[in-house]
Amino acid sequence: MNDAKARHAPQEQFPVAGNCLQIGGMSLNRLAQRVGKTPFYAYDRDLLTARVQHVRACVPDEIHVHYSVKANPMPAVVQHLAGMVDGLDVASAGELKIALDTPIDPDHVSFAGPAKTESELSQAVAAGIVLSLESERQLECVARIGEALGITPKVMLRINPDFELKSSGMKMGGGAKQFGVDVERAPALLESIGRLGMDFRGLHIFSGSQCLNADAIMEAQSRTFELALRLADFAPQDIRMLNIGGGFGIPYFPGERPLDLRPIGAHLEHWMPHLKSDLPQARVIIELGRYLVGEAGIYVTRVIERKESRGQVFLITDGGMHHHLAASGNLGQVIRKNYPVAVGNKMAETKREVVTVTGPLCTPLDLIADKMELARAEPGDLIVVFQSGAYGLTASPTGFLSHPRPGEVLV
Ligand SMILES: *Cc1c(COP(=O)(O)O)cnc(C)c1O
Repeated sequence: MNDAKARHAPQEQFPVAGNCLQIGGMSLNRLAQRVGKTPFYAYDRDLLTARVQHVRACVPDEIHVHYSVKANPMPAVVQHLAGMVDGLDVASAGELKIALDTPIDPDHVSFAGPAKTESELSQAVAAGIVLSLESERQLECVARIGEALGITPKVMLRINPDFELKSSGMKMGGGAKQFGVDVERAPALLESIGRLGMDFRGLHIFSGSQCLNADAIMEAQSRTFELALRLADFAPQDIRMLNIGGGFGIPYFPGERPLDLRPIGAHLEHWMPHLKSDLPQARVIIELGRYLVGEAGIYVTRVIERKESRGQVFLITDGGMHHHLAASGNLGQVIRKNYPVAVGNKMAETKREVVTVTGPLCTPLDLIADKMELARAEPGDLIVVFQSGAYGLTASPTGFLSHPRPGEVLV
């Protein structure tokens, strides 16, 4: 595999021909014509494929790779990935439906989420997928549903571990959390699962997300395995599934380096013999969202107006925070940094200037690039936001200001 580390700028994975960025084997100008409107998201099939292959090349063969649908639930993207990964993880009945429309065996679809409703739980039990139970309420509800439907529910127990994934952008475990059951309560729940005669599959331990520090990921993995080995003593049946989460991050901002998967793969390799001897039935699963799709996607928006205000140049476009909340800075809660941005139809332009790129909304939060050096652009030019394949459209307030939804294509 060519090494992700060799790359310094995210746009380098999209070739340039003449002045124009290429995606899916065609120029951005041509793609914009084909989509027939701006703004739009475009995801590159070959980059998705290469990314799954890269993960597979780095981690031991026995590890199952699952795709977390919430990172990008576009059905075409999920279908494409379903042909390459070992399973899908969903977080709602809507995502479950998308997963069930793929050829993936329901036995390899799992459902996590802290507030699964009675209706969602029934749909999941009926579909024969594996439920990650996250509370006593979910356990009791699933037992009732299983009885009513005459189906033995397949369940895992999601644990809120007593550690967290350090250096992660988002902590999903450790301390007090709404996710999973605290590890202290796990033995009692495991006992109940056995007593209720459920089809116990194993454990789900997800500690965090968007981590670029391989050492922190390896430490969390070791602690996850140690925890699973401890809890196995309380399990009502063999652990057949051990979902250890993922947390693999991608670089968004200057100074961030791509995650090197090789040490992580070697570390997993080191653990495999221990797991094979102590948890011989366990299928070890990593679940990845952002890492598989984030770098394969771009958001494209057209410059509508060029405006100067007190010496500062603004490029005002037809798209913005309502389609791409993350690039705009997530409502200003954190120190805002620019995503990688380029003028996609002027990649070779030597005339450059510092500009602020905004969207059409009536709020100063609608920012795409703040005082960034870009090729000199005019109305009609196409602004590209890279690293947009994950948590882009799906995590944006598309209803805000009632603009039309953007296009979305897999090319
Ligand atoms: C969101 C989520 C993931 C995916 O996280 P990424 O950072 O996109 O890889 C994995 N597991 C669970 C339980 C999640 O909620």
